Amino acid sequence: MIELPEAVTLARQLNETIKGKRIVEGSAGESTHKWVFYKPCREKLAKLLPGKKVGDVTSAGRSIHIGLEPNEMLVIDEFGGKVLYHDPGAGLPKKYHLFLKFEDNSFFTVAIQGWGFISTLTEWKQSKWVILRSNAISPFGVEFTSERFIDLVERYEDKEKDSIKTFFTNGRSVAGIGNSYLQDILFCGKVHPKRKVTDITTSEKKALYRAVKDTIEQAIQQNGRTSERDIFDKPGNYSPIMDRYTVGKPCPNCGTGIQKIGYLGGSCYICSACQK
Ligand SMILES: [Zn+2]
Repeated sequence: MIELPEAVTLARQLNETIKGKRIVEGSAGESTHKWVFYKPCREKLAKLLPGKKVGDVTSAGRSIHIGLEPNEMLVIDEFGGKVLYHDPGAGLPKKYHLFLKFEDNSFFTVAIQGWGFISTLTEWKQSKWVILRSNAISPFGVEFTSERFIDLVERYEDKEKDSIKTFFTNGRSVAGIGNSYLQDILFCGKVHPKRKVTDITTSEKKALYRAVKDTIEQAIQQNGRTSERDIFDKPGNYSPIMDRYTVGKPCPNCGTGIQKIGYLGGSCYICSACQK
């Protein structure tokens, strides 16, 4: 699944590459995929694409917004897979779930792995999940200050019940962080993923704020993780400190072996000595 640094990278590259191009042909892919959710339906989506011109491309949390001038916007949200630009004459990927062909014969595809949502802006804004996340702030924006972050933790409504992992990954407070960047954030902030939100101390909140900011900024500078691809099919340069490839290796702080634990529908990678 892409997270905020990948979304920022993809949006920046799309702005530089496809903005201003006119769409001559478009479709919701060559075949259906059970876990790709389209709104409106594939047929309606395909009909609205030809004739539109690609406008500004922006990112919000883990989603990418592609302007379709004059009056539409395409949103690709909560997804894993490849968002690719192709030069004229290049071959199509084996599977893809969105296709835009431009006047100059270059084209654009989205191939979803796992699951994903492809919708127009109006439909996207009406989804329950997006409404729940609508007050989240971006850790990449100027409004993300230490005071604001501490306030978000303190006002979190399920703080007695939820863990710090849920606080970050449900996207209701801080936008764009998933289970992957979370591992490095919790490691750098020295907090165990199972800790209840209510038990996080003031100094830990400050450490977590720094950890979010540093991790996300570094990852953006490095075009996202090495496991994800940009629009030219090149991997990012950010190597996670804590992930499946570092299990068993020594913690960079203290040398204890990095452990994998299953928690809340996804693995967590921790140093049991550093993360209390
Ligand atoms: Zn350690």
